[in-house]
Amino acid sequence: MTDKKNLLVSCPRCGVRVAWQDNPFRPFCSDKCRMIDLGRWANEDYRIPAQPTSDEELAEIIEFPQSPEED
Ligand SMILES: [Zn+2]
Repeated sequence: MTDKKNLLVSCPRCGVRVAWQDNPFRPFCSDKCRMIDLGRWANEDYRIPAQPTSDEELAEIIEFPQSPEED
């Protein structure tokens, strides 16, 4: 059986495995990591890089209505 009390998550900041349960800083390992991460967001230093999206990638995300093929 799965014991959720022993569930470990990796801190997004430093990658340390920390217990999810009773962790006030989750998903981070500590207040330090959490503040660093929040700070980076606040500084807009942590933006998701804008990547060119190909039509094929879009098609995987959005289901375009398929136009019937005509012979
Ligand atoms: Zn951490």
